[in-house]
Amino acid sequence: MSRRIPFSIEFFPPATPEGMDKLRGVREQLATLGPEFFSVTYGAGGSTRDRTLQVVREICAAGLDAAPHLSCIGATQASIRDHLAEFREIGVKRIVALRGDLPSGMADPGEFRYANELVEFIRAESGKEFVIEVAAYPETHPQARSADSDFAAFRKKVEAGASSAITQYFYNADAYFYFVESVRRAGIETPIVPGIMPIASFIKLARFSESCGAEIPQWMRRKFEGFGDDADSIRAFGLDVVTTLCERLIAGGVPSMHFYTLNQAALTSELVKRLGLAQ
Ligand code: FAD
Repeated sequence: MSRRIPFSIEFFPPATPEGMDKLRGVREQLATLGPEFFSVTYGAGGSTRDRTLQVVREICAAGLDAAPHLSCIGATQASIRDHLAEFREIGVKRIVALRGDLPSGMADPGEFRYANELVEFIRAESGKEFVIEVAAYPETHPQARSADSDFAAFRKKVEAGASSAITQYFYNADAYFYFVESVRRAGIETPIVPGIMPIASFIKLARFSESCGAEIPQWMRRKFEGFGDDADSIRAFGLDVVTTLCERLIAGGVPSMHFYTLNQAALTSELVKRLGLAQ
């Protein structure tokens, strides 16, 4: 039996009323497991602004804690100030502060270049009002010049006032442990929460992992490839692999876990139960 640690849940804002309806059911189901908070992603450049806010509003109205993601690429100081006022009005206490990626066709990068500038701005505007989460990349951000420059960028976010970090997902626990060790050696005490991606479809996971720089180890890749389109075997193997990863992380002392649910309840729910994390 592993140590019981807190966990959080991530949603993206659905594009259709049917998707919004389905998400309400998913949220209700996952809420019974007792997550610390639900975070809601934000399309860079503001493309999901209203939908993100709607999902966040509904989570707060249900008496749960919501953490909107907020990306700064393409934004102005005035637009971020408006967001902070809206968050305040809804009762938000936690923000996931990101740079985001400039959407194709959008030329104006706006008034912020990197996430550390957003963190600094939020702190200057609102002091300690919000818990600020930032992104961390144990396997290095794909656009970084080097692992060291990415580490320096992470440190800047902490120095700007980040409270805690959530990592990009990974399947190599050593990458996470090495990253945390480097952070601690640098004298940084910020909690580094591993982001956990349950595996529903290997093809989709492989495509997405290439763009975000997450490695799928060869032994896993070959095993998944061998299943072809046998969805049950993919699901069963994926659950076993991710459960083992989470058990290693918990045994290694992680403070909590953040589940990338892709708006599906089943796999996250099963993982939380297997790990004994349900409240
Ligand atoms: P930054 O920390 O600013 O880093 C971006 C790149 O610039 C890195 O390569 C870094 O090494 C480099 N860099 C940073 N600062 C400096 C500097 N001062 N000088 C030189 N180089 C620098 N994307 C979304 O669009 N919406 C979301 O809701 C969303 N949620 C996410 C949640 C999590 C937990 C994670 C891990 C990622 C999320 N992303 C999201 C993806 C994220 O927006 C992208 O990975 C984006 O490319 C980088 O954002 P960042 O905040 O990590 O940027």
